[in-house]
Amino acid sequence: AMDYGPAPEDPKETERWLDGHHRRFDLFINGEWRKPSSDEYFTTSNPANGDKIADIAQATAADINAAVAAARKALPAWQALSGHQRARYLYALARQVQKHSRHLAVLETIDNGKTIRESRDLDIPLVARHFYHHAGWAQLLESEFRGYKPCGVVGQIIPWNFPLLMFAWKVAPALAAGNTVVIKPAEYTPLTALAMAELAMEIDLPPGVLNIVNGDGRTGALITEHEGIDKIAFTGSTEVGRIIRKSTAASAKKLSLELGGKSPFIVFDDADLDSAVEGLVDGIWLNQGQVCCAGSRLLVQERVADVLHEKIRTRMKTLRIGSPLDKSVDIGAIVAPVQLERIRSLVDQGVAEGATCWQPSSALPAKGLYFPPTLLTDVQPTATVAQEEIFGPVLTSMTFRTPAEAVELSNNTAYGLAASIWSESINVALDVASQVKAGVVWVNSTNLFDASCGFGGYRESGYGREGGREGMYEYLEPAWLTEKPKSSSTTAPAQHIAQ
Ligand code: NAD
Repeated sequence: AMDYGPAPEDPKETERWLDGHHRRFDLFINGEWRKPSSDEYFTTSNPANGDKIADIAQATAADINAAVAAARKALPAWQALSGHQRARYLYALARQVQKHSRHLAVLETIDNGKTIRESRDLDIPLVARHFYHHAGWAQLLESEFRGYKPCGVVGQIIPWNFPLLMFAWKVAPALAAGNTVVIKPAEYTPLTALAMAELAMEIDLPPGVLNIVNGDGRTGALITEHEGIDKIAFTGSTEVGRIIRKSTAASAKKLSLELGGKSPFIVFDDADLDSAVEGLVDGIWLNQGQVCCAGSRLLVQERVADVLHEKIRTRMKTLRIGSPLDKSVDIGAIVAPVQLERIRSLVDQGVAEGATCWQPSSALPAKGLYFPPTLLTDVQPTATVAQEEIFGPVLTSMTFRTPAEAVELSNNTAYGLAASIWSESINVALDVASQVKAGVVWVNSTNLFDASCGFGGYRESGYGREGGREGMYEYLEPAWLTEKPKSSSTTAPAQHIAQ
């Protein structure tokens, strides 16, 4: 029976589910838990305190073969369902996410290090929204996507920064369109996807429609190179995106890539500076800056640069950094030691290249992987920290004089994912927006996402869109069929649409 009520407020639920951190998770293949063929397990731990959370099976070649075979076997029946029938499963998954939202939020926070406020108020509600939205597309499939058919078996690889949201962004449109899925979560954050496996069993999703295989980059490569897969969808680093582009180039696989960014946050001298500062708190300090579309490059008009920097420093002093499960904390932990080290070394390099580094003096927690909110000023446009994605709570600031200069600086990057523009003059804002090369442009706002809006980038930020109608096309292929007329009285061949 479906329970539409709010998630139970039981903080012990997640601990019980994890069996006091002794739980071992196998692979979810063909609707059931399977031991990995190699008996290899790895540990996922809590970045806020270093504690082990659970053991996770590492999928090998034989396991990926089994998962792809299960997805292939499930495909004809899943594809043969009407859009309405598939929609029922997606609605049921959405309701399960809402029902277990408290548990999913806690699980996400302990696995990733992000604040509970974020996972509870932003990530998990957006996950539910994404499944609801795509249930709607499934219902409309026959009318809105006439002449299209699903790609087939889809391989999906996702990163650790929004583990369950990226899972939803991948799985919901794929299933709505009638594909079957083999998905690999990131090795640092496998848990919420595994919780979704249980929810899929709960709603009786047909076996093989959704297969969840964990593991590191080796497992990812086994998926992207598998011959039994028709389409690859990847979100992650630009570096791995490049590898995948090469490895799939010679195959007939369809490919979509969502990669990195170095998005400009442009503040004109007529902007509401206090609002812009709040925008920056969201733009660069949400999720410790580990956001692909983070407003990590502040471009501020020269006349107000000093005032804005002072306002930013004042606000930074109020940001609370600490245990992600504490509801009043603004900045949580960094997902893994290697990421923390990368942030540190990039900031050091920035200073070595001439930047001025400012951090609030408040002490960091003694244990766990933390990095303070950081402002880098006096940054040259050619500096490493102005060009490379830091993927941490680090804002780099540069100044401009004219709108043309703002556009030039904005586009002086290999990326093109997002941009945020702040001005009280709508003419200036829209004019600049039209010239900035970015997949998403926000005016006097930032980080607004919705399942109905296609999200994605240009240039090295990847290609393809997720969300909305554009996102559905990533999981469909044109399927027009011209048949010979059945009756001899017709002279021209009749057009027939394959469904
Ligand atoms: P990553 O590329 O190292 O890992 C992403 C995923 O790819 C993981 O699941 C990993 O196991 C897998 N992987 C690693 N090597 C692989 C290989 N050779 N073949 C196949 N799969 C492989 O990136 P990350 O460190 O997990 O994530 C951070 C990066 O992701 C940042 O650069 C960020 O900008 C980007 N990102 C982009 C978006 C977007 O929508 N554009 C969203 C989130 C993150």
